[in-house]
Amino acid sequence: MLDFRRRILRWFRRHGRDLPWRRTRDPYAVLVAEVMLQQTQVSRVTEYYDTFLTACPTVDSLAAATPSQVRALWHGLGYYRRANNLHALAREVVTQYDGQLPRDPAALATLPGVGRYTAGAVATFAYEQAVPAVDTNVDRVIRRAFHPRTPHDAAGNARVWKTAGRLVPRRGRAAWTFNQGIMELGAIRCTARMADCPHCPVRPTCATGRRKGERPSDMLAGT
Ligand code: SF4
Repeated sequence: MLDFRRRILRWFRRHGRDLPWRRTRDPYAVLVAEVMLQQTQVSRVTEYYDTFLTACPTVDSLAAATPSQVRALWHGLGYYRRANNLHALAREVVTQYDGQLPRDPAALATLPGVGRYTAGAVATFAYEQAVPAVDTNVDRVIRRAFHPRTPHDAAGNARVWKTAGRLVPRRGRAAWTFNQGIMELGAIRCTARMADCPHCPVRPTCATGRRKGERPSDMLAGT
């Protein structure tokens, strides 16, 4: 596990993409990115992210916006329920938390539209807490690397989250980098369509990659 972690950290520092939401630790800006990234590609989100934050740069400004203003800013991004939830969340944070997003993942997870992943993502990407954030990319990498035969049921998911928690470094900044890195690996190397094991930095520590390493040019598809 230590070697896997070290490899992710080193690879991400060299090859991680420079994305707008990776340049900030503002909890609100991190949250907006996470909500937009749900079910939407990175390239599409980058078209909307800055415009949204320019129009509504703070939780308070979003809370003060009208539903039609929020909807107009979200227009074209799809899944409008996300915008409604984000708006409701902003109003709740203003009334319940004095405009400050909570640091505690459990408290975050009580807010509208915030599930376990998003709560972990805000905690680690904004507050640099050593907590896991398992989205579909991270889930795929952990399963292939550590639990290749684990079923996609409640017990299997719990196992993946537990492993993710053990992998996250204890130091905050390293936790931020690791969580970004494992997510990035799932987005560009270990994708749902193809596992590019020959060019993957964690291959020597990955159960699936080692197995595939017996055939150097092999690409694993669809697992
Ligand atoms: S070695 Fe292959 S299966 Fe393992 S994490 Fe890398 S790309 Fe995915």
